[in-house]
Amino acid sequence: MSPPTADPTTLARDLVRCPSVTPAEGGALALIEGVLKAAGFTVHRVTFAEPGTPPVENLYARIGDAGPRFVFAGHTDVVPPGEPAKWTHPPFAGDIAGGALYGRGAVDMKGAIACMLAAALEHVAARGGKPKGSIAFLITGDEESVAVNGTVKLLAWARERGESFDHCILGEPSNAAAIGDTIKIGRRGSLNGTLVVTGKQGHVAYPERADNPVRGLVALMAALMATPLDHGSAQFTASNLEFTSIDIGNPVVNLIPGEARARFNIRFNDCHSQTSLRMLIERHAAEAARERVRWRIDWEPSNADSFVTKPGPFLDLVCGAIKHATGKEPELSTTGGTSDARFIKDYCPVLEFGLVGQTMHQVDEHTAVADLATLTAVYRAILDRYFG
Ligand SMILES: [Zn+2]
Repeated sequence: MSPPTADPTTLARDLVRCPSVTPAEGGALALIEGVLKAAGFTVHRVTFAEPGTPPVENLYARIGDAGPRFVFAGHTDVVPPGEPAKWTHPPFAGDIAGGALYGRGAVDMKGAIACMLAAALEHVAARGGKPKGSIAFLITGDEESVAVNGTVKLLAWARERGESFDHCILGEPSNAAAIGDTIKIGRRGSLNGTLVVTGKQGHVAYPERADNPVRGLVALMAALMATPLDHGSAQFTASNLEFTSIDIGNPVVNLIPGEARARFNIRFNDCHSQTSLRMLIERHAAEAARERVRWRIDWEPSNADSFVTKPGPFLDLVCGAIKHATGKEPELSTTGGTSDARFIKDYCPVLEFGLVGQTMHQVDEHTAVADLATLTAVYRAILDRYFG
């Protein structure tokens, strides 16, 4: 009996039909389990939980025992569809029309998971049912929401079982306009804080008896916005601080408030660690405040450090496979939000390559059916070269 192969379009359509809005499994992991088991993979379904968050299901699968150990990573959960009536094709119908597959998750990232499965099954079948090293799948149902019961715990669980990985491809939608135009080789980190300035409450008609914290807040905000954090690095654009909210909460017109706050987010590059960045921001604030402004910054915990997978043989191999299947030389990018690559990078080098991101998280999310074939060809070329 020859091992089964799979058609990426059928798989992607069937996955889109699973209503797996975080934290619901929606049948998506069960579908993947069935496909991988039939191809000879050992499959584990694991649920993680933590107080204050809903339990979430995850899947780990592997075929082969030897090295090198290649792993595909991804998520089956999707963001909510919003108002289904706004969709031309219902968000969980998996309609194929005009050469495109429609539905929530078509691009982000059930389509890419379907391509990984198809490529892995083809590759394994071509080797008589056994890869030369081992191929694993790390699939989570907790990426789009808080991401605490997903990849971060699945990786730790796998390590405890003695699993290890040499290289990873994460299938997030990396391309801007066409398959092959962009590969993500790293991500910026993300850090949130609240700038708090304390004054003295009082009557607005007697300002000499009060100390308005708004004055100090504005001065410190201006300083923090004006001072560059760095000038970028070899792989990254400059880090950036954006204020996202100013909060005083004063409902009356005749009161000088006692306290004023402003929230901000920083997207930072590999010039900084979280610790060095906090120290830098506090130094800038202290310089602007001198002795005049009473201030502090409340930092929120963050699990999003910046990272980059440096140029080397693995990046060359993946870029070569992309060129082979698409004819394109991908741009090496570190833009965009955070992804689960921030957790994977602690275990092995990780690159992100998937579908075209244009319609992700939008109404009428869709991918060209031709792109599913092309992405499968890219993943297949990666596997063939990796285990060459
Ligand atoms: Zn995603």
